[in-house]
Amino acid sequence: MPLPVLILGGTTEAAELGRALAGDARFRATISLAGRTRRPAPQALPVRMGGFGGVAGLIDHLRGENIAALIDATHPFAAQMTAHAVAAAAATGTALLLVRRPEWRPGAGDVWRMVDSMAEAAGALGKLPRRVLLTVGQKDLAPFAAVPWHDYLIRSIEPPAGDAPAHRFLAARGPFTEAEELALLRRERIDAIVTKNSGGVATEAKLAAARALGVSVVMVARPPLPEGAACVATVSDADAALAWLHARSPRGV
Ligand code: NAP
Repeated sequence: MPLPVLILGGTTEAAELGRALAGDARFRATISLAGRTRRPAPQALPVRMGGFGGVAGLIDHLRGENIAALIDATHPFAAQMTAHAVAAAAATGTALLLVRRPEWRPGAGDVWRMVDSMAEAAGALGKLPRRVLLTVGQKDLAPFAAVPWHDYLIRSIEPPAGDAPAHRFLAARGPFTEAEELALLRRERIDAIVTKNSGGVATEAKLAAARALGVSVVMVARPPLPEGAACVATVSDADAALAWLHARSPRGV
């Protein structure tokens, strides 16, 4: 009997894990997406779309689908989904793995200002007008409307959802190369980038480009892990998640 697996996705790690599991008869795996983007990246596994309906809905889903292994490979800023996964796995006794890519850390030549929230990031841009590249996604933009004197270029997959400052919009989906990021920063004469500390390689080229040009970076720290997550098995990439799954497969590796 194949092992029923649910992967909470929306990340490169989840997609990579999906490619590794596709066609593997030891597993019956599905990827779950929130449905935030109109054209989600193609997945190698069957996809289910949309919220579960809170912790209770996720518990029902885990029970209804007989899920034996739940892998939370959501983005490090998708804190609510992770909290729900931890609670639902505990309630149902489902084996849970968290996939958390390492944070970005500043190195020599970086001009980073670390902040704990999007409101603090908006304040950190200062009183003088700046040309700002906002790469914080589509739904965390409201605090920048309170500091409207900056010239904002918002880059995300989808246009802003909800309050946002006056801006120009650049629709784009990573990965981005350093050459592309250098060209963008130069063309737009960007002097500050605001980003979440997402980690990972797909969107880190902007940091190298900023270093090369002396552009300052406002780095928003990750939200804390939810209660109970510290006791959950955690790995940092898709290969390690695959190894964890293999250890649970009916016939081993
Ligand atoms: P969130 O705030 O933690 O979750 C809000 C609600 O969205 C959850 O309670 C759940 O609804 C639903 N949801 C989230 N992820 C889901 C998934 N993979 N499958 C089914 N339902 C999901 O999440 P978010 O920050 O909006 O992120 C949404 C998705 O975008 C995630 O898949 C995440 O990996 C991806 N993403 C997020 C970011 C980011 O910066 N936040 C960046 C890149 C990708 P119910 O309570 O109804 O179950």
